[in-house]
Formats: sequence, structure tokens, C-alpha cells
Amino acid sequence: MIYKRSLKGLFEMECELCDNIENYRLIKETKYSKVAICKWPLKPGHVIVMPKRHVTQTTMCDLSDEELRDFMSLVQEMEDLLNEKFEENVITFKNSGKHSTQVHLHYHLLPSKGALRDLFSTFEAIPKREEITQREYEDMKKLLIDN
Ligand SMILES: [Zn+2]
Repeated sequence: MIYKRSLKGLFEMECELCDNIENYRLIKETKYSKVAICKWPLKPGHVIVMPKRHVTQTTMCDLSDEELRDFMSLVQEMEDLLNEKFEENVITFKNSGKHSTQVHLHYHLLPSKGALRDLFSTFEAIPKREEITQREYEDMKKLLIDN
């Protein structure tokens, strides 16, 4: 595990979502939030929305009112965009505890053939994880940011 020294002189874990999101994955940034294509997308259109400041999955309420409004506005904006770009409607969710591979707060937005209940039953015959190619990242990014 890699540690870095924070400005306060305390040791903290390095966070991929703070520092290391590859540029080809980034879709959009606002003053306090950003959107990236999921590193292991379940299907085309799978993105994550996160605050820029490091807030963990369990300390979401540490966001200021302004940061929270910015974050939720971006979630809504991306839901609208994905609903427009895909023939399926978006399900928005957040992992927690052992389900979350990143400590940094982030919401997953995923176009789906069915509602959440359907997703967990039979509508989605998808592998658990499958990394996509550089070209697939570029195609997905182009689809989401070009009008
Ligand atoms: Zn972070």
C-alpha cells in the first residue's frame, strides 16, 4: 500500500480518484466535481461522478452545501445526458463497505434495460469485470461529450 504525506503532516493513503484518473477517462469537470468513464465499465455509458475533494464513501456529509449541490447537479446532468444518448434509462447507485474498491466517494451511473430490481435478476447478462480497450474508451468519451 502506498502512503503519501499530506499538507498537515499526517500520513494518508494515496487515492486514485483524487490524483490518478487518466485523462482519457475524464468526461467533465465542474468547480467541485468530476465525471470519468468507469475503469471497469459494465457496459457502454457506465460512468462515475465524484467530488474533487477527498471525501470517503462514509463521510459524504462532510461535503459543504456548495460542494454537495455541485455534486448532485452533476449527477443529474449526467443522468439526463445518458438518458438522451442511450436507448436505456440510467440507474444511479453507490457501493459501500467491502463492495467499494475506492474509498473516495463516487456514484455509478449505468444505462440499463430495466429498473434496479430487474438489473439484479435477469435483464443484465454481464461479466463482473471486463477492462475495455483504449479505442473503446475513446469511442465512449466521444459519444458522451460530442454533440
Ligand atoms: Zn480521494
